[in-house]
Amino acid sequence: MEIRLSEVSTALESREFKVYFQPQYDAISSQMKGAEALARWVKNDGTVILPKDFIPFMEETGSIIDLDWYILDEVCRFVKEQKESGLKIVPISVNFSRIHLQEEDFIGRMNAITDFYEVAHDTIVVEITETTFVEDTESVKAFCERVRDNGYKIAIDDFGSGFSSLSFLKEMSIDILKIDRSLLKGNFEDDKERIVLETIIMLANRLKLCTVAEGVETKEQLGFLRTCDCTEIQGFLFAKPMPVPDFVSLCAEETPAPEEDILVLQNRNSAVELLLEAVFDKFPLVIFANLTRNSYYMMAYENFTTTKCTAAGKFDELIKGGALTMHPDDKMLFEETFRRENQIQAYEEGQKRISLVTRQLGDDGVYRRVETTNYFVKNPASEDLLIITLCANLD
Ligand code: C2E
Ligand code: MG
Ligand code: MG
Repeated sequence: MEIRLSEVSTALESREFKVYFQPQYDAISSQMKGAEALARWVKNDGTVILPKDFIPFMEETGSIIDLDWYILDEVCRFVKEQKESGLKIVPISVNFSRIHLQEEDFIGRMNAITDFYEVAHDTIVVEITETTFVEDTESVKAFCERVRDNGYKIAIDDFGSGFSSLSFLKEMSIDILKIDRSLLKGNFEDDKERIVLETIIMLANRLKLCTVAEGVETKEQLGFLRTCDCTEIQGFLFAKPMPVPDFVSLCAEETPAPEEDILVLQNRNSAVELLLEAVFDKFPLVIFANLTRNSYYMMAYENFTTTKCTAAGKFDELIKGGALTMHPDDKMLFEETFRRENQIQAYEEGQKRISLVTRQLGDDGVYRRVETTNYFVKNPASEDLLIITLCANLD
């Protein structure tokens, strides 16, 4: 597509560039947690031109600088309007070309726009692409620090698409790692693909970075990313980039209706947090499992005797993996007691819970007595049989 510089300038002035939002979802709860702002050139006749047809040209000519500031301005205006309408506000990621690194007073301009619209700085995520990091490390480092010192978050975009240097993860101060779509091509039938992705996410988690997987299109991909502990999902499986009015409706949909519950009025979330802290103190391992669907999700396990299990996955595999850490004399009893079929049968025979004490090998090589109690729960909205597992270290 042939584009002239004058055309771009006119389009910017006549506001033909529009911001689209692609929501990002919590990998486990599927709740919308953020969105990325993506530019679209919408011509007067309604034709929508995608970034691949104008971004490379704008990068070459330097006009990308104007586009990025324009998009940030639109994003902040949007956030302000959401706030005024009392609608949900989530952090918004804005793409910034690497050319901004050379821009004098980048942060001054950033603050001027966000402060004009009274947008809290931590609502804005500055996305810079991985390739930026091969440039002069010192200036990129200084740039990231300045941005973070001013309260904004930093995401590295397209991680894994080019020549990712792992040393920048060590040196730069960043918040979010966005995993490039190219690492998620198939449905992870290939061992190597799984290992690479799993390891990148584990590395990011250890560095306390949030991970966003881009380009998630299938349920299989989602399932695997969940087992890897990926934080957020952005992809067509959940939602495509959408114009502002659609995103406004989406935000409105997700705003919970006011409840008359006294606990809610008294800030139920903080009460629940306190309660959970007390529970986790006594039970360092808490698992939610769906026996009918063979799935589980761990709520806490960081302070448990062993921390080698994945945070979500198939229940049968959890038991198989758990059995491997049991004392040889307890292994069979553990497997039999917690076999899914046996638990379902126990529930059908009227049992309310199952409790068992076994010796389990800790990460430090020591066996400790662990009391595992499974409480059967029924969700009135479905036929599935669920359990809540509480594990206490007895030694
Ligand atoms: P990006 O920042 O990595 O954005 C993600 C791209 O992946 C978007 O393409 C999005 O539509 C696409 N995507 C998301 N989920 C899926 C999926 O499940 N399947 C597939 N096939 N694609 C998915 P888009 O909007 O065409 O943008 C392309 C690139 O253009 C962006 O990649 C970003 O690098 C650049 N870009 C877009 N808007 C701006 C902007 O305002 N400023 C700058 N500097 N760059 C921008
Ligand atoms: Mg991006
Ligand atoms: Mg990307």
